[in-house]
Amino acid sequence: METPPPFQESAHCDVCRCTFSTFRRRHHCRSCGRTLCHEHSSYHMALPQYGIYTDARVCYECFNKSSSRDAGVLIMRVLPGAFRVLRTPFQG
Ligand SMILES: [Zn+2]
Ligand SMILES: [Zn+2]
Repeated sequence: METPPPFQESAHCDVCRCTFSTFRRRHHCRSCGRTLCHEHSSYHMALPQYGIYTDARVCYECFNKSSSRDAGVLIMRVLPGAFRVLRTPFQG
């Protein structure tokens, strides 16, 4: 079993660079440890390589990496925002 990376303590989201406040909470990806806003950490999956067998918060990159193999099952578990992203190529 691997040790998960330590959480980064960044002042802003690693994806969109927004800053955090009372209303914009800071989150971390359990898989890569990056600091992220809610919008960019709204994905959940188990991380058995880290001993996490229930859904944990992850970023899109980590989610996408491990879901490409099993997209049919995992697509039902993502939030509407992620679903919209995945659908985009089919909308022309
Ligand atoms: Zn963000
Ligand atoms: Zn990640």
